[in-house]
Amino acid sequence: MLNNQGRPTNVDNVNSNVGASSGAALLPSEPLLFEVGDKNKSGVDLPKTDTDFSSRLGGFARQTPINLPGLTEPQSMRHYVRMSRLNYSIDAGFYPLGSCTMKHNPRLNEKMARLPGIADIHPLQPQSTVQGAIELMEELGRWLMELTGTGAVAMAPKAGAHGEMCGMMAIKAAHEAKGQGHRKLVLVPESAHGTNPATAAFLGYKVKEIKARKDGTVDVQAVKDALDENVAGIMLTNPNTCGLFEPDVIEIADAVHEAGAYFYCDGANFNAIMGVVRPGDLGIDAMHINLHKTFSTPHGGGGPGAGPVVLSDALAPYAPLPYVKRDGDAVSLVENQDGSDDHLGRMSAFHGQ
Ligand SMILES: *Cc1c(COP(=O)(O)O)cnc(C)c1O
Repeated sequence: MLNNQGRPTNVDNVNSNVGASSGAALLPSEPLLFEVGDKNKSGVDLPKTDTDFSSRLGGFARQTPINLPGLTEPQSMRHYVRMSRLNYSIDAGFYPLGSCTMKHNPRLNEKMARLPGIADIHPLQPQSTVQGAIELMEELGRWLMELTGTGAVAMAPKAGAHGEMCGMMAIKAAHEAKGQGHRKLVLVPESAHGTNPATAAFLGYKVKEIKARKDGTVDVQAVKDALDENVAGIMLTNPNTCGLFEPDVIEIADAVHEAGAYFYCDGANFNAIMGVVRPGDLGIDAMHINLHKTFSTPHGGGGPGAGPVVLSDALAPYAPLPYVKRDGDAVSLVENQDGSDDHLGRMSAFHGQ
């Protein structure tokens, strides 16, 4: 079929490329559905109705035609099947994501995410009808605090970089609450993931780079030399990007705290130390956990990331909303500030992934 510019249309070209690992290929010329078809065709037969809907819509009734694309039933079916084959999925190949690719991405996770009890619920449902889902959040949050040796967790952040922003926002809020809002510097080792300096800069901080030692670890003396009353915090990855556990991490944490600053730990590599070391015992104040890295939550072509942030007692009062509260057998999501607390507000429309 040709459209009115004489170009072949996607809806009639779905059968090429079956069996290729990436699914259907994009066509060199890809008209929109609105550009093809014929307004007089329809893929569905709806019975005529005598109801006059305009009477109930008052002045809001649509005055103009709705302008849906006019496709026949096979054309619309081919369109959606073809779209589904453009999705990159774990069935078609390895996840093409940077460091997330180091993880195990079993298909089973996606099956779990499709369980009706999870897939068929809505964030606006009354909480009494989704107690099981809230309980899952509460239980996972409890595990994360236990594994990291911390006392608070924010489940809302959607992935690692979003978690960094959440943790650094808590650090900023804590400084402001203490009248330390003038602290405008964040220390970031040169081996850091690009999201660390980007997060600090996004929140209005200046970034000061800390040199690495010859072996790739952070130079503790360089951190001490850089610390002063203008430093808000350090963002440090442990184990670091070279895959090395920072041997001086406790000395760094102590020096940072002594200077009145906070320790943000990038927990993207937590899988390497989970169950062996608790970051809370090393002196961290905030750390995101990339569940799509450490816990193999579906990610990329197979699902969203998830970046909960654990917080030290010093930062706990600034955790974002909503958070889960247990009251006997019932669990609830606390969604609003009660006026007496310092929560950051929301990181996103609803709760985390
Ligand atoms: C993956 C990663 C991030 C960012 O996490 P996303 O979930 O991709 O946003 C941050 N830091 C390090 C060290 C990482 O490996």
